[in-house]
Amino acid sequence: MYIVISGNRVVVLRYMEYLSRRPDRTYALAAYREAVLLARSGKQGWLMDVVIVLRALGLDIQLDELNTVTPDAIPTLQSRLRVCLMDAINGAIETGHKTYLLRDRWEPQMGSRPRQETMCLRHYLQVQTTAHRRALTRVILGCHLLAVERLAWTERYRRQVPHDERLCRFCRHAVETPEHAMLRCTGSQDLVEARTEYLAKVYLGRPDLPIASTITDSARYLQMLICDVPTIDLTASFAHRVLEIYGKAPMYIPAEYFVRS
Ligand SMILES: [Zn+2]
Repeated sequence: MYIVISGNRVVVLRYMEYLSRRPDRTYALAAYREAVLLARSGKQGWLMDVVIVLRALGLDIQLDELNTVTPDAIPTLQSRLRVCLMDAINGAIETGHKTYLLRDRWEPQMGSRPRQETMCLRHYLQVQTTAHRRALTRVILGCHLLAVERLAWTERYRRQVPHDERLCRFCRHAVETPEHAMLRCTGSQDLVEARTEYLAKVYLGRPDLPIASTITDSARYLQMLICDVPTIDLTASFAHRVLEIYGKAPMYIPAEYFVRS
């Protein structure tokens, strides 16, 4: 079952509203009433599934409440669920180890000041080149194959490597994070050339942006680049190039974490 948020609508609840508003003697309404009867008699069915999913999303609701809900009350239920979802998403972003690039970010607005948005269509999802869009999204969500994430996994013949020992495969001077790879590492000539070319284009288009080397918090600087709409295609293309360069070199794995049989 899918519960999809679209604007302020929760699709499965809107579907229930649609069914319950069908005229008498329609198959849709008859099927919905059968589903309610089934749920009331304690039998499993899609209404019970809805309750399970809603409760898993944090909404305090009982099956009886869902069974007896009137069409006019469903928008209120949608609003309650939306609040629960926002809280759950914000909580996950605040506490997740992969989500640091998503914290405290300001979403650019057309014709007004940036503001914090939990859910919206992000500008980086409109990058035209699919491979570039995917690469940047992976960086933002921590779903890339750089050592900081990859070595957090255990494998058949390797134990998990502690965070501070997941060192860059090129320079071995810092943890191999997206911000190190994209903005700091000088251990690969290809990487340095790609970064120099990228930043030159960024500075040309946005001369008001601070120079990368003057910022000590590289994760914060990367966040700023990701939030910049005019240069987002450049940033996505660069993210793709960086992951490509890293993907061609073997990852550095300290020998002591291999499991010998
Ligand atoms: Zn490095």
